[in-house]
Amino acid sequence: MYPTLTEQTQQSLGRPFQLLIDGAWSPAASGETLDVVNPADETVIARIPAGGSEDIDRAVMAARRAFEAGPWTKMTPGERSRLLWRIADLLEARQGEFAELETLDNGKPVTMSKWVDVPAAIAALRYWAGWCTKISGETRAVDMPGDYIAMTLREPVGVVGLITPWNFPLMSAVSKLGPALAAGCTVVLKPAEQTSLTALRLGELIVEAGTPAGVVNIVTGTGAVVGAALAEHDGVDKISFTGSTVVGKSLIGAARGNLKRLTLELGGKSPTIILPDADLEKAIVGAGTSIFHNSGQICVAGSRLYVARQHFDRVIEGLASFAAQFQLGNGLDPATTMGPLVSDKQQARVNAYIDGARASGASVIASPAVVDGKGYFVKPTIIHSVDQRAPVMQEEIFGPVLVATAVDDLDELAALANDSIYGLSASIWTKDISAAYKLARKVRAGTVTINSGSIAGPNIPFGGCKQSGWGRENGAEGIESFTELKTVITAL
Ligand code: NAP
Repeated sequence: MYPTLTEQTQQSLGRPFQLLIDGAWSPAASGETLDVVNPADETVIARIPAGGSEDIDRAVMAARRAFEAGPWTKMTPGERSRLLWRIADLLEARQGEFAELETLDNGKPVTMSKWVDVPAAIAALRYWAGWCTKISGETRAVDMPGDYIAMTLREPVGVVGLITPWNFPLMSAVSKLGPALAAGCTVVLKPAEQTSLTALRLGELIVEAGTPAGVVNIVTGTGAVVGAALAEHDGVDKISFTGSTVVGKSLIGAARGNLKRLTLELGGKSPTIILPDADLEKAIVGAGTSIFHNSGQICVAGSRLYVARQHFDRVIEGLASFAAQFQLGNGLDPATTMGPLVSDKQQARVNAYIDGARASGASVIASPAVVDGKGYFVKPTIIHSVDQRAPVMQEEIFGPVLVATAVDDLDELAALANDSIYGLSASIWTKDISAAYKLARKVRAGTVTINSGSIAGPNIPFGGCKQSGWGRENGAEGIESFTELKTVITAL
């Protein structure tokens, strides 16, 4: 049995989940709700408001008022910084509750929610708190007759719509809220319909911390209704979106009306490359962690593996043993190391890819884990002997499925790695650092790691090339994306 939920979590689930608009909580205008299903046992654990375009209208108007006229506009950078820090402190005081909510909602092991997701969200809020007082412009020389001073100012872009996915719900929300608020924007957050609980509870902490009304609005509901209404709204100056490439592309059309700014963090099909001289034991653990962590529901998951032919069998054997060690189960059980996928829809999608590969004659190794009964579980799976053009090789599966290929001609590695519409990340395993750098230069990806799986942090720029997105999040580049650059030139 699993440990009982903490009293805070039980109370949290007992209270109604409502929309946060203009500092007040309310049901959706339609009164309708969506069921929140625990993916580990398929039970309904809560209901969230099914917002609509009327709710988005109200939220955008509240954000606009707060941006143009409210107390927010008069707050100093230092005051904004202290506010973000207070939110982080409040979150820290409720770490246990947020970790449990995230696990109930998304399915991930509570050990991960507790030691990764929630602490990372707290650290990110504190990181962005530091940025409030450091946003600045530059002075430039004016190459004209006369005496001038030219300077640039970084101003908040305005009202921002934040649209987030379900794989790291709290972290995704914070990684957008933090820089948006630090830059002085006001926001409307639309979390994924499957995993809105921690965003809504975070809204309570945002209010409790003293955030002025209208600065942060949270509207839950489906992407097709609420997400689309937000993306199309002419009162929104920018959309910061993380999600699939298909939806990301649809936002380009939605942004056309008022030419709103877009940051798009989209899908990936990231290659892991094991060169002949790699430390194989480390590479196997790195490759396995990269694809199986969070049940493979990670945008930077190393879902394609290219291994020098002479090590292929050993690597596949090592990965099969690595996969067999996962204990699949309810994330609330501290012994669980791999939870279910987020939904029945995602489970069916991933299984369809595995079945398709099997039917086309590929070799499929599924871990021996027992996953009978309720819950949207998929066993860690390794597929090999597939054509480079096969759907499992080219399309993002977003589950614990690794597709491996033996490579004879190492000169082709860069071309194989780049043979994808995506360009989010890549990892290279070798003891020859010179070879690693040379390959890293050729691979088209937003991030390349060498002898390491994915490394991320709020100060490390993150984003994709090609169809993995537009723009970068995190660090100076991330905060700049929530600003407009204004040039002021004065004749002296
Ligand atoms: P998704 O279906 O694109 O959904 C992402 C968000 O967009 C959700 O909040 C969704 O709402 C909303 N949405 C759906 N249709 C919309 C529309 N027409 N207009 C506006 N918003 C809409 O992606 P997902 O399945 O949740 O997440 C998995 C995908 O995210 C993968 O492709 C993964 O690679 C990508 N991802 C990328 C990164 C990165 O940083 N590059 C990070 C994490 C995930 P509902 O859920 O309520 O429908």
